[in-house]
Amino acid sequence: MTALIGIWRGSLEARAGTSARTLGHAAKFAFLNVPAHGHTNPTLAVVAELARRGHRIEYWSFEQFRAAVERSGARFRAYPDLPDYEARQAADNLIRLARLLMEVTARVLPALIDALTADRPDVVVHDALAVWGAYVARVLHIPAAASISTFVIDDRVIRRDPALLVYGLGQVAAALPEVLAFERVRRSLRRRFGAPPPRAGEIWSARERLNLVFTSRELQPFGDLFDETYAFVGAALRQEQLSDTDLEGLPRGPLIYVSLGTLFNRRPEFFRAAIEAFAERPEPLVLSVGDSVDSASLGPLGPRVHVRAFVPQLALLRRTTLFVTHGGMNSVNEALYFGVPLVVYPQVHDQLIVARRVAALGAGRTLRAQVSAADLRDAATAVLMDPGYRRRAVELGATLQAGGGADRAADELERLASVATAARERTS
Ligand code: UDP
Repeated sequence: MTALIGIWRGSLEARAGTSARTLGHAAKFAFLNVPAHGHTNPTLAVVAELARRGHRIEYWSFEQFRAAVERSGARFRAYPDLPDYEARQAADNLIRLARLLMEVTARVLPALIDALTADRPDVVVHDALAVWGAYVARVLHIPAAASISTFVIDDRVIRRDPALLVYGLGQVAAALPEVLAFERVRRSLRRRFGAPPPRAGEIWSARERLNLVFTSRELQPFGDLFDETYAFVGAALRQEQLSDTDLEGLPRGPLIYVSLGTLFNRRPEFFRAAIEAFAERPEPLVLSVGDSVDSASLGPLGPRVHVRAFVPQLALLRRTTLFVTHGGMNSVNEALYFGVPLVVYPQVHDQLIVARRVAALGAGRTLRAQVSAADLRDAATAVLMDPGYRRRAVELGATLQAGGGADRAADELERLASVATAARERTS
């Protein structure tokens, strides 16, 4: 194993001499993900690039993502039936979520072991939260890469930022019985499958031989902490989503865009405040409110206000002058990629860190707790009136573009596949 890591590191160091696209054979990749747009979207751009290069990809996910996965060029694989996967309910507490992820692991692992033994991939690429992906790779000794769609928040980062430690302790204190349940499942997994399952800390900061991080080192807090096994590839955007074809009825000129993402968006009072805050602005206003807010509950909407459950976000961001966002990493990356300044209204977890980072880097302002229409209007006006915010957004966007996106991620994965193949050939 140590020798393998040595070869891997060596190959990274010799990067200049290796052309990723000269990988002599089509490799097999198995992607494993969780049911969340933010965790799925950047990987689909990578899958599309790998497929374009002739590789074979199996993508394990949930039924709602089947169409998008198949469009990207992968073969969709459904996890065995998981009726109790209620990520949305568990997601408000990190420890509860960790327990749920461990239980899902116990449930899907036997089927995953069978499938990946029968058709062994060269590389497993698992979302940091897809604990079952990390674990099946460990059990079957398949080289693994982690796909990280948020900032990397691990012990090194937490040591530098006491606010994160306090937040983490608060999460533990609010869900103590979950800690015991997590450990129970973890112990039983170890008994059943032998290999040590990920510890709680590893769930939030998967650390594989290759870690694809979908942001830039400049945006990542304490970005200098991470060695070359962390590939900060910037924003990996799905090219087909940049087109205007799905804009149906939405404005095509400069606009203000409001979204709280796809998970923590049940906030009708916030959307009402936004409609009021921007009532006097000349630009059209687009709100993506998710599937649990009824647009009828938002009061009378003028002709300039467009409310949808879900919008083609990338196509919209290209013409957005200001984005009011919850601070999901993907939303922020995507906005900065297009140089859009931000007002960030974070709800939980990493969004709080992203919001702080956006403010510290000067690309926007943040709002906290209960906000009124006046708070929102003041923050928005400040950002729109000061060209410095847009300038910083453009500069940070350039760092996200420079990361290389899906193309670079595919290079890195090919390199891991070739190192793994070489090591396998040497031992066989
Ligand atoms: N998204 C979209 N349309 C919408 C809302 C969101 O396409 O109406 C996409 C957005 O482009 C991003 C993802 O969904 O890629 C949301 O991820 P993010 O990390 O921003 O937030 P989350 O939903 O995970 O909280």
